[in-house]
Amino acid sequence: MALLHILTEGEPQLYKISRPVTEITERTKILLDDMVQTMRKADGVGLAAPQVGVLRRIVVIEVEPGQVLELINPVITYSSGNQTGTEGCLSVPGKRGTVDRPSYVRVEAMDREGVTRTYEGTELLARCMCHEIDHLDGILYTSKAKKITDEEDD
Ligand code: ZN
Repeated sequence: MALLHILTEGEPQLYKISRPVTEITERTKILLDDMVQTMRKADGVGLAAPQVGVLRRIVVIEVEPGQVLELINPVITYSSGNQTGTEGCLSVPGKRGTVDRPSYVRVEAMDREGVTRTYEGTELLARCMCHEIDHLDGILYTSKAKKITDEEDD
């Protein structure tokens, strides 16, 4: 496995629309493994492929430690409710923003075996799913945030 370089705000790949994965290859699986390792090393709860310069519709999420979601071609098929909360992004280091998101989302995506599955998220997981899927459409949370502040050091 390898650590990948995470692009930061201003890099053009972060604003592009990623293409669907048409075939899951050994390279796709290596990318997923590398993305999980990179997310953990950076202390994040989610990472989208365009953040590491790969314009493919792939997301990894780990809101609950040890419970990794690998979402290939994810689509939000249903959402409801509303939550307002704080968000950060590995591509926007040192910043936090207040963003409105649905409180519940249902996502359809393929897993690494190519099996289409339905995933449900509430609270932080719903927020994270929306944030990461936005990355696949070239959207950073900073374009949706009501207020952006510098992260406070503990
Ligand atoms: Zn992000």
